[in-house]
Amino acid sequence: MTISANDPSRKSWVNVTENSDFPIQNLPFGIFSKEGISPRTGVALGDQVIDLSALHSNGFLNELPFGKEDLTSAVLNDMMKHGKQAFRDLRDRIADIFDANGNYVDRKSEIESSLHSQDSVAMHLPVHVGDYTDFYSSIEHATNVGTMFRDPNNALLPNWKHIPVAYHGRSSSIILSGEEIRRPKGQTRPNDNEPPVYGPSRLLDFELEMAFITFEGKPLGNSISTSEAEDYIFGMVLFNDWSARDIQKWEYVPLGPFLAKNFASSISPWIVTLDALEPFRTPGPDQDPKVLPYLEYKGEKNIDINLEVAIESAAGSEKTVCNSNYKNMYWNMNQQLAHHTVNGCNVRCGDMMASGTISGSDPSSYGSMLEITWRGTKPVSMPDGTERKFINDGDSVIMRGHCKKSGVRVGFGEVKTKVLPAE
Ligand code: MN
Repeated sequence: MTISANDPSRKSWVNVTENSDFPIQNLPFGIFSKEGISPRTGVALGDQVIDLSALHSNGFLNELPFGKEDLTSAVLNDMMKHGKQAFRDLRDRIADIFDANGNYVDRKSEIESSLHSQDSVAMHLPVHVGDYTDFYSSIEHATNVGTMFRDPNNALLPNWKHIPVAYHGRSSSIILSGEEIRRPKGQTRPNDNEPPVYGPSRLLDFELEMAFITFEGKPLGNSISTSEAEDYIFGMVLFNDWSARDIQKWEYVPLGPFLAKNFASSISPWIVTLDALEPFRTPGPDQDPKVLPYLEYKGEKNIDINLEVAIESAAGSEKTVCNSNYKNMYWNMNQQLAHHTVNGCNVRCGDMMASGTISGSDPSSYGSMLEITWRGTKPVSMPDGTERKFINDGDSVIMRGHCKKSGVRVGFGEVKTKVLPAE
């Protein structure tokens, strides 16, 4: 499969700095607005946003299936109804329009009127998320958590290497980068010999995750196989699955996470298409024991995405606390989607499926404070001399991600969320 937009030799006539996450080979989709321009579809290129409806009005998107109403909608769901091939053709067209050697260079001045600097626009949640599922697909994370909370000798439960374990999360509290959250309150039991108490969570944590967003799936009662899965995946965002560890510990048996997780999950604003990530494919880990046939897959299904997490204190000093990589995942997206639908469960356009915390084998690659500080026993020192076991009021958590190969950097920007004191 050759995707012409991905050609590493392409250069845009729009200036793109060397360390930009948004070269012409990326072209991620989001929703932006600015004064006089209602929320609508934008594509990031360098430090600019392309207004697709403006390109459409000037006839640059002719012969593509997208209508004006698709491109001026406040969420991408209507556009996404056109499916995978339509987006592939659209990305190829946009790449041609902005390529310094493309077929449209003589119309530059017309095209320039569709550009806005990213500094001048507001970003919005890119999709209406119908359902949100959170997987648990990093073997290092599952092993660390199992070691801390259950039994170091049997850290993984017997099903873990047979099933991409997941739970159904809550979509109403998925928020965009930049939106602040309040420290959640709830019921905890800090002392095993005393009754439970109510109050602000004292162990607020992040989880470094990536999420994929689906196109319309099959009707209820049908399954999506591992080989079909990519036709149903639009793209990916950075995902912070906020977690209140003290609430989680008291509530999670027997049905799993509830109020410890559903108060907020933050995402980055630009959806990087699966097509743009294609050049960064890498083999997955050996899966032993052998998986059941419906979970078998062919080809390289992991993706080499460098990930980092930083904590920024209220005073503005920033400390990187984690460097991980999405290629560490034990279960890949194809397997996750095949498993999710194997019983006939229908996925819909705009559903979000998060990976689970992405930890590597080295402690510097652990994707949550729970693991980084090993339940608070190994605090992290901040540049200002203070310590962190978990996340303090006034802290912001920043996650960043990018792929790099053959001189091309395709990135996700960042998801940044500040924590305010409990109400
Ligand atoms: Mn999670």
